[in-house]
Amino acid sequence: MAASRVALLGHPVAHSLSPRMQNLAFEAAGIDWEYEARDVDDVVTAVAELQIEGFAGANITIPYKQSVFDICDHVTNVAERAGAVNTFWVQDGELIGDNTDVAGFDFAARELMLSARADMPKRVALVGAGGAAAAVAAAIRDWDDTELVIWSRDPQRARTLAQRFARARAEPDLSSAVRGADLVVNATPVGMSDDELPVPMNALPKKCPVLDLVYRRGETAWVRAARDAGHAASDGLPMLVEQAARSFRRWLGVEPNREVMWGALE
Ligand code: NAP
Repeated sequence: MAASRVALLGHPVAHSLSPRMQNLAFEAAGIDWEYEARDVDDVVTAVAELQIEGFAGANITIPYKQSVFDICDHVTNVAERAGAVNTFWVQDGELIGDNTDVAGFDFAARELMLSARADMPKRVALVGAGGAAAAVAAAIRDWDDTELVIWSRDPQRARTLAQRFARARAEPDLSSAVRGADLVVNATPVGMSDDELPVPMNALPKKCPVLDLVYRRGETAWVRAARDAGHAASDGLPMLVEQAARSFRRWLGVEPNREVMWGALE
């Protein structure tokens, strides 16, 4: 690829660690590329502008992953399964979309279950039904026999997501969705800018690992509270690094240095 610029499109993006992480990884690899964040209101126009400006590709974040899926000329099988795109590149003037959140979540969930010394979950409760939740559901589809229970504040959105996956169902009551789970995942932005908990502590099954896709300085209140109550818990950083590493590889065809990426977060 001749182009040497990639972007992050979303709203909001000011909190994002991706520019720092990717720019340090480019530098460490000796690659003269730049990564910039753009806070956009109209993602379709923003993507067209990137193409005019000769960008090589982009990452897509909240709330545009499903909109960008719709405008890609081609998508990978993984993005097709998720129905959402978090990474695209431009090839012969066409947009090719992928979803590296799927592998990023799979990696983070396996790490968490390993740290909890637990087997892979038989039942996962998923809170939220947007782009990140779709990536979670797409990853879990490939886990042997795991049942997925989806709760969303908009019950119809949870039903629509659940219908696309075998072994998935929507549950309109949050406590019922979480009951009996052996992994609970937050895929909403709750807790990103305050200490609100996506799932009350008293609703969590005893010792059930919790994976918050949200990250913030000093971890989220939910992760801290869960760990204090004896649950294995992780925030969104392991997923963030893994999805970023896979986007890097998509754009450049080489592996980034993940240690440099982790270092960028400190
Ligand atoms: P999205 O497509 O906008 O979906 C957000 C979901 O959360 C929707 O189901 C939405 O419900 C729900 N929601 C929003 N505000 C809520 C609230 N106050 N209470 C309950 N539900 C609420 O966003 P997304 O791309 O899925 O991202 C979701 C979160 O995951 C973001 O915080 C993002 O930063 C994080 N994420 C992290 C990683 C990582 O690598 N760690 C990767 C992807 C995403 P409605 O439909 O009713 O609005």
